[in-house]
Amino acid sequence: MRGAAKKEMQIILEVLREMSSAVAMEATRRRQRLSSNGGASETTEEPAGQWGRAWEVDWFSLSAVILLLCTAPFLVFFFVMVCDQYQCSVSQPLVELYSGEATLRSIWEKAPSFTWTAAQIYTVWVSFQVVLYMCVPDITHKFLPGYAGGVQDGARTPAGLINKYEINGLQSWLITHALWYANAQYFHWFSPTIIFDNWIPLLWCTNILGYVVSTFAFVKAYLFPTNAEDCKFTGNVFYNYMMGIEFNPRIGKWFDFKLFFNGRPGIVAWTLINLSYAAKQQELYGYVTNSMILVNVLQAIYVLDFFWNEAWYLKTIDICHDHFGWYLGWGDCVWLPFLYTLQGLYLVYNPVQLSTTHAAAVLLLGLVGYYVFRSTNHQKDLFRRTEGKCSVWGKKPTFIECAYRSGDGSLHHSKLMTSGFWGVARHLNYTGDLMGSLAYCAACGFGHIHPYFYIVYMTILLVHRCVRDEHRCSSKYGKDWKRYTDAVPYRLLPGIF
Ligand code: NDP
Repeated sequence: MRGAAKKEMQIILEVLREMSSAVAMEATRRRQRLSSNGGASETTEEPAGQWGRAWEVDWFSLSAVILLLCTAPFLVFFFVMVCDQYQCSVSQPLVELYSGEATLRSIWEKAPSFTWTAAQIYTVWVSFQVVLYMCVPDITHKFLPGYAGGVQDGARTPAGLINKYEINGLQSWLITHALWYANAQYFHWFSPTIIFDNWIPLLWCTNILGYVVSTFAFVKAYLFPTNAEDCKFTGNVFYNYMMGIEFNPRIGKWFDFKLFFNGRPGIVAWTLINLSYAAKQQELYGYVTNSMILVNVLQAIYVLDFFWNEAWYLKTIDICHDHFGWYLGWGDCVWLPFLYTLQGLYLVYNPVQLSTTHAAAVLLLGLVGYYVFRSTNHQKDLFRRTEGKCSVWGKKPTFIECAYRSGDGSLHHSKLMTSGFWGVARHLNYTGDLMGSLAYCAACGFGHIHPYFYIVYMTILLVHRCVRDEHRCSSKYGKDWKRYTDAVPYRLLPGIF
């Protein structure tokens, strides 16, 4: 009996040993997968990949996430409400609150609330963009020379997949704007000021969609992820909700959440929102100011550039590294259309007519900014597409060879350019973007700080993005990244930062 018990004990111990060694092997495999997931360089001992968002959340990140979740919707409301109630004065409501003249409740009650008209407008708008995105395959690439539309490959995901995308954003933008123009000129189905006239009620509708989409993406990641291998869980529900779990959530083969929500309905709407502001100026004052025209033109260049280069956009951080959560879902539905268009909104309430010199300086700053932004992005795209076999500023580009591993463990090679704009600083595309952003703000004159919120926000966004990207690249390329930063020591401003 004792012998049988001893034998049983031995078997149990054997099984336990087997199990613990299996667990240890799995942990090692997982660690290896993590460290290659985002690709620690083969020469480094980086413990975990830095592809996109984090695997673990520190207290600082968690506090920032909770702060943003709690305050961002109110910040958007504040900047729109101050125009509606205080002629875009940012300080006036604070002074009134401080002196007791107003209360949070009285401010809230004065703001227009949700309306079914706005809900109908927004439903028609989003549905129309879904139809254009899903049901109208691109034909513009067949007759626009140099435009890359139609089915295009995205970048390799952490799990090693390459997704296909239907690039038809330019076509959607053109059809939408042609219809807008036809309505304004001939059909008169609705007023061209319709967006402005329903602006705060629309804010509630966009919030509903933003939260529904983010929550759906969150639940979907647990229940039916598009590609489970590309999901990231931190164990912290707030962080997962905000930064996203799934990398490329899709419904069916083609409805890609990131491409749809990043590109449309917010960015297609951007230029229409500005046109609606210009129409409102015309209706209120009988003229459109040169500042409004400048804002419309400079931002339209930026939007058109985005759609012309939508295939290139597939290779940017948003698509290549960010997961889809509240940050992208709510941000694209609410933050982008409301806060990227603050200048036009401000100019409806404060019509500024700029002197010729001021207008010319703004135009120059905007165009130079755009040139730096576009050329820098173009140089990298050309360099990567041709694997360095191209000409940049009339010369063969110089570069540093790098190696990294993807999530499936395979080894890949890459190159970091060290000439052209990429030899001047490591992120001159952001610098150009910031110059353009400053130009939009400066078009509003210097009467209020309200329209300048945009440049403050863009500076925070792009500096943070730069640091985040460099952290990831450093994990990905290891000492090769160090060689690159030694060769190109500045980030945004040569000699300064
Ligand atoms: P980048 O286009 O600068 O891409 C960064 C990536 O490029 C890195 O992760 C690395 O990727 C690769 N890379 C870095 N250095 C080099 C080099 N020297 N040579 C070749 N490749 C290099 O960043 P984003 O995707 O953030 O931005 C794209 C554009 O979008 C920018 O112009 C930005 O201003 C704009 N933007 C605008 C926003 C807005 O709200 N208006 C928001 C965000 C971006 P890899 O892993 O492939 O090596």
